Amino acid sequence: MRNDELIRRDLAVLWHPCTQMHDHESVPLLPIRSAQGVWLEDGEGGRWLDAVSSWWTCLFGHRHPPIVAAIERQLAQLDHVILAGCSHEPAVRLAEALCEAAPPGLTRVFYADNGSAAVEIALKMSFHWHLNRGDPARRRFIAVRGGYHGETLGALSVTDVPLYRSTYDALLLRPIFVASPDAYGAVDSESSEDMALRAAADLRETLEREGRNVCALILEPLVQCAGGMRMHHPRYLREARALCDAHGVHLVADEIAVGFGRTGTLFACEQAGISPDFLLLSKGLTGGFLPLSAVLTTEAVYAGFYAEHATRKAFLHSHSYTGNALACSAALAVLREFGEQPWLERNRATGAKMTALAAPFAAHPKVGEVRQTGMILAIELVRSRAGRVPFDPTERRGLRAYRHAIARGVLLRPLGDVLYWMPPYDIDDAALELLADVTAGAIAAATA
Ligand SMILES: *Cc1c(COP(=O)(O)O)cnc(C)c1O
Repeated sequence: MRNDELIRRDLAVLWHPCTQMHDHESVPLLPIRSAQGVWLEDGEGGRWLDAVSSWWTCLFGHRHPPIVAAIERQLAQLDHVILAGCSHEPAVRLAEALCEAAPPGLTRVFYADNGSAAVEIALKMSFHWHLNRGDPARRRFIAVRGGYHGETLGALSVTDVPLYRSTYDALLLRPIFVASPDAYGAVDSESSEDMALRAAADLRETLEREGRNVCALILEPLVQCAGGMRMHHPRYLREARALCDAHGVHLVADEIAVGFGRTGTLFACEQAGISPDFLLLSKGLTGGFLPLSAVLTTEAVYAGFYAEHATRKAFLHSHSYTGNALACSAALAVLREFGEQPWLERNRATGAKMTALAAPFAAHPKVGEVRQTGMILAIELVRSRAGRVPFDPTERRGLRAYRHAIARGVLLRPLGDVLYWMPPYDIDDAALELLADVTAGAIAAATA
């Protein structure tokens, strides 16, 4: 199909995610025929640098050869088999490799096929675990202001991004939201660590008041991604771990976006030296090739369900594609890559280049902050720097930046007025420099 035909037929039949379809009367769809490394190509000479790793899924670059090869090998052997009652090597090997790579104490793996499903599983498992112990009073969740955990009803309930949540509010669970440790919220001379401690104090008070009714605290370690790439000090995670322990509450670390090296370590929790009770993984898990998610948990949680059938303690949750063999083989190839190639070291070097290239943006009168954690760099556009007054959202400044960048060969997809770089790890110097140039122009176009 030619590009114009593809777009015409698409708009006649498709309904795109996270999109007001009416926008496509003026915003062009990108017709993508092929991809390689950091590049997306349309087959007619157009190409775009994938600065957002295709919604944070692509890790080492598109069609990274070792992952392609692993899927091809698996395809010659086994496509998929029901995981209830059956087993297969990719599912077993991947579970072993994940437990080996994860923070200590996580010894059991439950698979699903997307991030939101992993969140649903963790929430249900935590509630059910307390119930199995004879503690039915624990039926509430604590979630963090500004957090994002997906958009199925349970996951949306613990999400605090009004754009996605407010319409459906009447349908949702009632979690208890606690203050975000987001360092952008620091006031006066507060450091990011002070901010983390202030938020931890709110969590402490909440647990002292409500702790006996709470199953779990869910949070995004180090970076609240969809909420605007807001970043916090690891101290918050240490405080949260200790407070959860003191109140018998599970800690759910949603590393669906930040896992697999995005923050500088393989998992963000490592930077706080903590182990959660549940670790949620998806997005980068298969390197951006296939849908898969994993819920890692502890032997203590597993043991709470392990009993004679008649006790009715089993966790009966299921998804048809649980433990898909092709997806597991891709994920195994991802973990092999981290073992065999110095990707984390390379990311440190790439991250330092990103820091240097973005440094000039901080002086722009309409930039409230340039912040970075590892391979995630964000630029917050504001109407005025003094007091960090945001733009009126109806002005859609971010969309102007998006359109500017698309016209110059870069797929930069802002979150509201927050521009960010979250590129595939194989990005080279020339691509980084292009990204920085185009971003400078995008900031100017968006804030003019
Ligand atoms: C993307 C995301 C999810 C949801 O994953 P999906 O696969 O899109 O359902 C959950 N939590 C976080 C932190 C995410 O970034």
